[in-house]
Amino acid sequence: MKRLYDDDLYRFDTPQRSYWEATAGDLDVEAVPLTGNESCDVAIIGGGYTGLSAAYHLARNYGVDVRVLEAGHIGWGASGRNGGFCCLGGTNLGAKQLIRKFGLEEARNWYRAQVESVELVREIGAEEGLDFWPQGDCEYIVAHTPRCFDELRDTCDLLTGKLGIDANMIGGEEFRERFYDSTEQYGAMREGPTFGLHPLRYCKGLANAAASNGAILHDRSEVVDWAKGEDGTHSLTTRGGMLRAKRVIYATNGFISEDLRREYSGRTLPIISAIIATRPLSDEERAAQGWQTDQPMANTRRILNYYRMLPDGRFLFGGRGHGRGGAIKEQETYTSLKRLLGTLWPHWADVEVEYGWRGLICFTGALRPSIGQLEDDPSVFHGFGYHGSGVAMATWSGSKLAEWIGTGSMPKLPAVAQGLGRKFPLPGLRFNYLQMGIAASRWLDNRR
Ligand SMILES: Cc1cc2nc3c(=O)[nH]c(=O)nc-3n(C[C@H](O)[C@H](O)[C@H](O)COP(=O)(O)OP(=O)(O)OC[C@H]3O[C@@H](n4cnc5c(N)ncnc54)[C@H](O)[C@@H]3O)c2cc1C
Repeated sequence: MKRLYDDDLYRFDTPQRSYWEATAGDLDVEAVPLTGNESCDVAIIGGGYTGLSAAYHLARNYGVDVRVLEAGHIGWGASGRNGGFCCLGGTNLGAKQLIRKFGLEEARNWYRAQVESVELVREIGAEEGLDFWPQGDCEYIVAHTPRCFDELRDTCDLLTGKLGIDANMIGGEEFRERFYDSTEQYGAMREGPTFGLHPLRYCKGLANAAASNGAILHDRSEVVDWAKGEDGTHSLTTRGGMLRAKRVIYATNGFISEDLRREYSGRTLPIISAIIATRPLSDEERAAQGWQTDQPMANTRRILNYYRMLPDGRFLFGGRGHGRGGAIKEQETYTSLKRLLGTLWPHWADVEVEYGWRGLICFTGALRPSIGQLEDDPSVFHGFGYHGSGVAMATWSGSKLAEWIGTGSMPKLPAVAQGLGRKFPLPGLRFNYLQMGIAASRWLDNRR
């Protein structure tokens, strides 16, 4: 298969050594590799939130005969590895850029969809009785320089004044008293409605709910060939079997196999994001940094960090991963994340890190997600490109794809998420573009 990173990032038979894998528990339902010749109405490639949400909504709301083909185990990809921020997001375009590009009405539609997406995860959790360890009710974007606090204030005015988002600013001193102290803390913007969750428990819960409603799940079933017959039937070949389907949803996001369908090749830029988790911190250790919150947090660095205190007192700290997927750069990533953690919270500089893991998020050339149907083949649907914020948005995307297929007509989608977006010019150079983008971001981070 043609993919952008080293093979190490695509070992579908190997789970990450993550805190989530260690604490998720088993699936309640059966998932087995595809064998022999099978058929269904809708086949879904990818067993993360996009694919599983689509399967769940198709089976539950429309009684559709649906199967999911997942190369690893259920939740092997980003959906089992993320920071667990069930948050607003999905594009890499700021509020101002969105208004300029799409107009105020469409920007509002897009923000409404983001709020809806977070609420959808809460609803699924409540309806299906999912035990995904929810924490908090908003997110704090913490200014890492005084100038960034001023920029955040402008964003906050736009979000509350024009885009219907619940947000407010908190000065540095008040923030220190109520949340934590750090070497890079100059106040923050609170933004709702975000909450923290256990991503793999959520993913497995979604899979359980999909299967209980009739969806069939095949794990360890990497699709290695995709053909379409003259009668319009798709044939998806795995190493163990073949699945024929009238329609296909392509839901592989950052772990895309570039050569399965030419229409999707060269459109995405997967980027490594990585996370470390410390051992549980004692009450005294937390008090040393004035830490007193379980709300999810991120900073304003362009090479962003995201962090949360987990229910058992471990500190989760995430950021950009180094290199092209090889093992040496993987270790460098965890070392540099630990070093940065110690710089930002000096009292925790020597706390042991017990877990480190990484995965691929998915950018697109248009810097916005794509939820849709192929123009030249209306039997093929897709949802991808959540720009590192897909816990809620991928769930929403899957539900919209299910509605599209279940009702036979396109649901109301914000213009921001429509259209396949352009291919990258000279797609073979995408990794070089990324390196240039990182260098520019680092330079800007040092100047802000
Ligand atoms: C380290 C990290 C931290 C993140 N933190 C957050 C966060 O805190 N909040 C947030 O909102 N988002 C976060 N994200 C992003 C979020 O996890 C993703 O946007 C979301 O999980 C995407 O879901 P998905 O189902 O589209 O893709 P994935 O979950 O990546 O699933 C795609 C699946 O497709 C499968 N696949 C690929 N090729 C094939 C094939 N040929 N045949 C069969 N199966 C195939 C893969 O095995 C994979 O499991 C993070 C991502 C990472 C990596």
